[in-house]
This record gives sequence, structure tokens and C-alpha cells, in this order.
Amino acid sequence: MTRIIITGAKGRMGKALSACAPSHSQLQVVGQIDVGDDLSAVIAGGDAVIDFSSHSATLGVAQLCVQHQKALVIGTTGHYDTEVFEIKKLAEKIPMVWASNYSTGVNTLFWLTRKAAEILGPDFDLEVVEMHHRLKRDAPSGTAKSLAEILAQVRHLQYNEAARHGREGIVGERTPGEIGVHSVRGGDVVGDHTVIFANVGERVELTHKASSRDTFANGALRAAAWVVQQKPGIYDMQDVLGLK
Ligand code: NAD
Repeated sequence: MTRIIITGAKGRMGKALSACAPSHSQLQVVGQIDVGDDLSAVIAGGDAVIDFSSHSATLGVAQLCVQHQKALVIGTTGHYDTEVFEIKKLAEKIPMVWASNYSTGVNTLFWLTRKAAEILGPDFDLEVVEMHHRLKRDAPSGTAKSLAEILAQVRHLQYNEAARHGREGIVGERTPGEIGVHSVRGGDVVGDHTVIFANVGERVELTHKASSRDTFANGALRAAAWVVQQKPGIYDMQDVLGLK
């Protein structure tokens, strides 16, 4: 039995994790932490922490996991580069799964995006469009960023230099070295992502639409059961699904 502690337990994803956990017979939720609760008081009783809280909370959670030698699954997105750097350093000491998206469908989209970019080649213009509910705080979504990073990798570009977040005014013609990344917000959309490959005369679009948070929750729970059996290091959902 793997004992898990959820941080961000009162949030949309935290609630989905608690609701889905009973269908994973090898898992038991032993702690539910949100703002005002003390993770250090309960962490000893768990085997793994699943973090779906806030970018500013993850580093502290990871430090406690290292201190108590617990595994960590990170679902939170929107971290600053400095936070990413510090958290990644801690993965040398504990096993950590860190994925911008835990759904099987999106991980298939990651795979397809790489393949399509390789096959279609440099003549196709690349744009990523995402839509999420009106309450989402960070933009672009972690998933859109991952998609753009895959595209940048295939094109031998740096994400930070290539990403073009929206356009306004006389911005000039599109340059071949840019990857458009556009965020749409509204209503209760759980998460839509489209990767557009556009050339003169034809266009390919790859789209994933999530209609329930349970798909992310079940993936993260599966990752928790997997990560406790791994050596220290940083893994993603493709490792969990055996897609590598
Ligand atoms: P939410 O705002 O509904 O919930 C976040 C919860 O975290 C809130 O209850 C908040 O009080 C709590 N929280 C904030 N700071 C905390 C702290 N220091 N300690 C403990 N709890 C704290 O947000 P959400 O929609 O549940 O999403 C949470 C995160 O997960 C976001 O970053 C979102 O982008 C990400 N997300 C990732 C995936 C994925 O598959 N990786 C899927 C959906 C959402």
C-alpha cells in the first residue's frame, strides 16, 4: 500500500484526486494539506506527496520531501525559472515525477507533436493555442509550454527566444523562427490544446480536449504508485506510461 499526501487538497485538482483515489486499490490518502495546514506535521506518515497547489508552494514541499526522503509527484504549473532550477536540483535526492499534464491523451499529443514536426519539416509555421476556464491563474498553460518546447527542440530553437505570446499592432510579417503560443480564457473549460502546422496550401492541426479533471487526477495517482519504486531522479508521465 502506498500512502499519499495531497497538497492543494481543497482546490479543483485536489478534490478530483481525493475523489479518484479510492478506485486505486494500491493507494491510500493519509493527508490533505491546503493553506494554513502544516505538511511537516504529517509528512512522516506518507510515502509520496502529490502537489497540485501553487508555483510558490512547490519548492517548500520538495524540500520537506527531501528532508523526510519521500517521493514527489508535481502537477502544479506556472513556476518561475528560478523555482524550476531549485526544484530540479532536489530531484537528485528523491524520485520525482514532474509533468505539465498527467492525461494519457495529452501525452499521446506530445508524442504526435514531435512526430508531426519531424515529418513536416521547417516550411510549416508552428502555433500553439490553448483554452482554459476563467479561474486559471498562469498563462500559457504548462501543457502549451511543453508543446512549444517540443516544437522548439525539433527545430533546434530555444523556447524562451522562439515563443511569441499573442500579437498586437504592426508586428510585421511572421518570421520562420517563431512559435506562436496563445492563451484563451473563459467559462469552465477544463483544458483544450491545439498545435497548428501551417504551410502555403495546407494545414495540419492536432487537438486534445479534456472534459474532466479526473483524467489528470488518475494519471497523477498512477504516477504516485510508480514513483515510490524508482531511484532518485526526475521523471515525466512518458516514463510512467512506458512511452520512452
Ligand atoms: P485551484 O486554485 O483550484 O487549487 C489550488 C489549491 O492549492 C487551493 O486550494 C489553494 O488554497 C492551495 N494552495 C495554494 N498555496 C498553497 C500552499 N502554500 N500550500 C498548500 N496549498 C496551497 O487550482 P487547480 O485548478 O486545482 O490547479 C492547481 C495547479 O495544478 C495549477 O498550477 C494548475 O495549472 C495545475 N494543473 C496541472 C495539471 C496537470 O496535469 N499537471 C492539471 C490541472 C491543473
